[in-house]
Amino acid sequence: MNRTSPAPRLIFHNGTAVLPDRVVPDAVVCCEGGRITRVGRARTLPRDAKLVDAKGGYVTPGFVDIHVHGGDGADFMDGTTDAVRTACRAHARHGTTTIFPTTTTGSPAQLSAMLKACVEVRRDGNVTEGARIAGVHFYGPYFAPDKVGCHSQAGRRDPDAREYRRHFATGIIRIATCAAELPAAEAFYREAKRHGCLVTCGHSNATWAEMARAFRAGMRHVDHFWCAMSSVASLRQRCGTPMQASMEQFVLAHEAMSTEVIADGCHLSPELLEFAYRQLGPRRLCLVTDANRALDMPPGRYRFGCAADGEWIESDGRVGFVPGGGALASSVVGLDTMVQKMKAMTSASLPEVIRMASLTPAERAGIAHDTGSLMPGKRADMLVLSRQLRVRRVFVGGDECAA
Ligand SMILES: [Zn+2]
Ligand SMILES: [Zn+2]
Repeated sequence: MNRTSPAPRLIFHNGTAVLPDRVVPDAVVCCEGGRITRVGRARTLPRDAKLVDAKGGYVTPGFVDIHVHGGDGADFMDGTTDAVRTACRAHARHGTTTIFPTTTTGSPAQLSAMLKACVEVRRDGNVTEGARIAGVHFYGPYFAPDKVGCHSQAGRRDPDAREYRRHFATGIIRIATCAAELPAAEAFYREAKRHGCLVTCGHSNATWAEMARAFRAGMRHVDHFWCAMSSVASLRQRCGTPMQASMEQFVLAHEAMSTEVIADGCHLSPELLEFAYRQLGPRRLCLVTDANRALDMPPGRYRFGCAADGEWIESDGRVGFVPGGGALASSVVGLDTMVQKMKAMTSASLPEVIRMASLTPAERAGIAHDTGSLMPGKRADMLVLSRQLRVRRVFVGGDECAA
């Protein structure tokens, strides 16, 4: 992938601009120095600018993925700059311009290597690297033992302050997950909050009471709704009767809580996607890929997590699953597919669907001042989509990514 040298002025025209609350037909979006300067109706186009013809399609903000493990054969947990670059490029082809590489369970050394590789790729900046790393989502290893899912059980552990303080000290962690019922989870949440992170609970069988304690410690988000999280039924097994409210009820009942869905059409049925959209609304619901390394790879067996010792999963080209068992093991498609499916399967409007893939995750991750919508002053992280919402062109900070 190469980026053309940055044009001093860039003008998108002949398309419908998608704003968070409406569309602007026949819009022009002007950019200068890598930032958006104006969004409005078409008028005479200046001659000295580089024109981007949307050909009657949509001009939208680039997508922001806050939960993503890899793509094109690479997992971020491989821990090399090559792997990080490969995955970031793959996701840019699917419209992601801002990415939060996501850890999984693994040894402390594997986590350190992953964080170091992401720091290096982010620092080297203006490269031909596709999606821009805004921070790391520190996701594994602090999962509940009974909710590890497709991740390596050997790489799971309880929060260890000596370990996570070292990881936070890299300065690149912006989103931090821990299962709320683990010993000392609250100390982890407080430390994550001190570092300015979006604090999240995932791979957890937490009760309402544990969620309430976590909330007081700063937890405000739950990973992949309905996947690897507690339910009334799972808590009846854990706690008996009376039946208990779960993570699901806790998120739905608290305005300050957000969550995310894997809208690939394989993880959740259309009515669950519609339910999440209607109950939470587009400001509290993010679209994520949760994609593994099998994205853009042929069907087959792949390691989830580090190439050396990650768990084996299988891809049929539509979704990942645990070999033999049938349990799902994250997605193998990009945010472009999630956007298309969410639009097709729910009553959400196009501005709402695009918001769930851009502005909402940007707001939750604390980067909405910089990216996530077509607003003067923000980075020119932009897409040209066809009327069928297929990715035609991708711009990161005004530079075009070419696959
Ligand atoms: Zn997961
Ligand atoms: Zn995941």
